[in-house]
Amino acid sequence: MSKLKYERPVIKKMNAGLMNKFGTRNTFQPVKQIDGVPVHKLIEQYGSPLFVLSEKQIRRNYQAANRSFKTRYPKVQFAWSYKTNYINAVCNIFHQEGSWAEVVSGFEYHKALGNGVPGNHIIFNGPDKHRDDLILAIQNDSLIHIDHFDELYSLIDLCEELNKKPRVAIRINLDTGVYPIWDRFGFNYENGQAWNAIAKIVGSGKMQLVGLHCHIGTFMLSTAPYAIAASKLCELAMRCKNLLYTHIEYIDMGGGFPSTNTLKGAYLPGVDTVPSVDEFAEAITAVILGYGFKQDELPLLILESGRVLIDDAGYLLGTVIANKRLSDGRRATIMNFGVNTLFTAFWYDHKISPAQDFTEHTEDMVLYGPLCMNIDVVRDSINLPLLNPGDHVVVHKVGAYNMTQWMQFISMRPAVVLIDEQQNTMEIRKAENLQYLEMMERMPEHLQQLKQV
Ligand SMILES: *Cc1c(COP(=O)(O)O)cnc(C)c1O
Repeated sequence: MSKLKYERPVIKKMNAGLMNKFGTRNTFQPVKQIDGVPVHKLIEQYGSPLFVLSEKQIRRNYQAANRSFKTRYPKVQFAWSYKTNYINAVCNIFHQEGSWAEVVSGFEYHKALGNGVPGNHIIFNGPDKHRDDLILAIQNDSLIHIDHFDELYSLIDLCEELNKKPRVAIRINLDTGVYPIWDRFGFNYENGQAWNAIAKIVGSGKMQLVGLHCHIGTFMLSTAPYAIAASKLCELAMRCKNLLYTHIEYIDMGGGFPSTNTLKGAYLPGVDTVPSVDEFAEAITAVILGYGFKQDELPLLILESGRVLIDDAGYLLGTVIANKRLSDGRRATIMNFGVNTLFTAFWYDHKISPAQDFTEHTEDMVLYGPLCMNIDVVRDSINLPLLNPGDHVVVHKVGAYNMTQWMQFISMRPAVVLIDEQQNTMEIRKAENLQYLEMMERMPEHLQQLKQV
């Protein structure tokens, strides 16, 4: 990055209703409540910082996405991507709505079982499935998505040992015109590796090949790659039927639909640029429906959407610690949450709103977190009304990946509160404390005595 030039602070008076380069004044409406619950009450009761999730919005997102696909295609199944947000209460909202579970690790697999998801509604993805977890998945009739040849070979051995014939799919990576290709996961389509894996599975007679899976990327900004991916999976499914007499029951298009967040460095806000779920659904289903399957042989279409279903249902409430003037004159505001809590600050320019009335003056400012480290920048440049110590802010669209990627660095993870559809609030994860932090530590005997001075 080039060195920032000194610029005199520019404090502007806001022009009500007029468009300026930061948008209209509406951008600066204070956000005083979430789903009818006052922000200051939430903070009084549960502390700050605080994650808040809207059950209403999660259900609304799920139902809308489900509708987008079901109105276009007869057989659709969503599987909640656990790594996007695996707080059990969140998972159960999706499961109540009819979603299966998509997991990428052993502990997520156990979480799904613990949440009561039937084994045959759990999709087990990822490159690192341990032997014990695979055995459990086989015994529970889960859908095992094979990632690489070594896994394929060890599965064949396991099937022999257990004398079971699990239902499996392979993950396929392919060229969709978006680069770099995510070719580190799964078997490649273009060079014949995927077909080779399919032939080995069917040839072994030890497993039932029931599905084909891809997950071509995340926060995909156009629908065309999905159409290409769908047609390549359909081509493989047809080849399985015609050459190997193997019926492919489902095609799993993975996740990757973007939320309406604004990617760092993007010129236009995400709300104005990202395609809708409807557009993705149209692109994918048009290809499958037009591919020439007989009506009764149409594959089930599985979607593993994560962020698009939950990002905008999550808020982070925080508090201003202090203001500073940097040596180059810029205003800096220090918040009580940083990249430890808001991991997605590395990816997005999150929308941030003051949570109370404010002065009519705004200024470009840096928003820092409270950590003692230089990378702890929540926003490197944002125009906001001047905030005072103790003021609260609402960070928008933080529901995806923060409550799984948050770090316990310097400060502990805050509580997560759910607002249910009747506007009741409940803690679905308590704030961490010192006891929790030290629970797994052990003190060797020779270190228990401190030398007295
Ligand atoms: C992470 C992941 C998803 C969810 O991705 P989003 O971009 O959040 O929709 C789905 N499938 C697999 C295999 C994943 O790894």
